Amino acid sequence: MPYQSSSALSSQTTNSLLCLTVAPSQVLQGTDALQQAKSAIARLGKRPLVVRGDRTLADTPQLQPLLNMELQVAEAAYIPDCSEASLESLKQAVANHQADVIIGVGGGKALDTAKLIAYQCQLPVVTIPTSAATCAAWTALSNVYSDEGAFLYDVSLLKCPDLLILDYNLIQTAPQRTLVAGIGDAIAKWYEASVSSGNSEQTLIIAAVQQARVLRDLLFQKSAAALKEPGSTVWQEVVNATVLLAGVIGGLGGAQCRTVAAHAVHNGLTHLPGSHNALHGEKVAYGILVQLRLEEMVQGNKLAATARQQLLKFYAEINLPQTLDDLGLGEITLTQLRHAAEIACNPNSDIHRLPFQIVPDQLMAAMVSTTTPVETGRSNLGIAAINSTANQGCEDTDS
Ligand SMILES: [Zn+2]
Repeated sequence: MPYQSSSALSSQTTNSLLCLTVAPSQVLQGTDALQQAKSAIARLGKRPLVVRGDRTLADTPQLQPLLNMELQVAEAAYIPDCSEASLESLKQAVANHQADVIIGVGGGKALDTAKLIAYQCQLPVVTIPTSAATCAAWTALSNVYSDEGAFLYDVSLLKCPDLLILDYNLIQTAPQRTLVAGIGDAIAKWYEASVSSGNSEQTLIIAAVQQARVLRDLLFQKSAAALKEPGSTVWQEVVNATVLLAGVIGGLGGAQCRTVAAHAVHNGLTHLPGSHNALHGEKVAYGILVQLRLEEMVQGNKLAATARQQLLKFYAEINLPQTLDDLGLGEITLTQLRHAAEIACNPNSDIHRLPFQIVPDQLMAAMVSTTTPVETGRSNLGIAAINSTANQGCEDTDS
């Protein structure tokens, strides 16, 4: 049973048409999947445009099969970000190449860009993740950022990718830290879905929330072993968890199984330039601790306090960030902290799916007390916590 839930949000009924985008049409997974995927790609188009990050196909031996296809392949980078400016220039690249299929190669942002370009140009899309840092290869959703990397909005797409190629050899070339981040993003599914949808009576939402619990438990059990042995069977299963099962949950749960505070905190942090060295999943993992801390401070929720202690142990074991300092934000000013908190609390933010009202002062207090020992009583909005956090490096130098 979820440790708590929001009845107000999940018991609504609707007469509107539900659009389900559950899964990619085809998923090919294996140690040499890319080598064996040529015919599956060729079925989708003859003139692929590869949308990638800064790793070119020629520079990456594991991506050579894409160049060796008997197809007219062109490549274009998403620079500077998955932003409106990049999307415009990529649309031009699609037109110039007369592309008939888009292939996204890279991390979450490259894949989000590829999916969105394909959607806008009404072309099929293939996703080839080069790390296990997110489930972007699976989902029918793209996040759009500013050129400077600040999160702006997300776009729901009409369908999941036409083909997902999960090549373990390719994933293994990514830094270990990307898989750790993917684990952080994946476990957030449980902490957020159980709050936003834990009370749902809808069959597929119940299934999504329960799968999120299964995903969390799998990762609790297997992550440490997987990280010790990259390429091993247990490592492959953890990759499957972060790239595939996390995607299944998003697909089953859909728009009603939304993110809550963990991703809202991530979105707020992206507006601080100092946060850009931290990966999406690292910021989200920290955001889970903030969300639990809010539930402790505002609701006096003891289960949230216990869950936070459990996570702190897990984070220490696999090296996920626990504090702003761990994210490289130990020196931010109180003004910057407030800026991130205000963005996370904007009226459209998913943070308002919490079953209680939240204001930026409360969020700031939670953000600077993620590692605090479990309290015995209910604290008073946590304002005191802000004033007693000089040890977290939040000096108010701006005001
Ligand atoms: Zn995420």
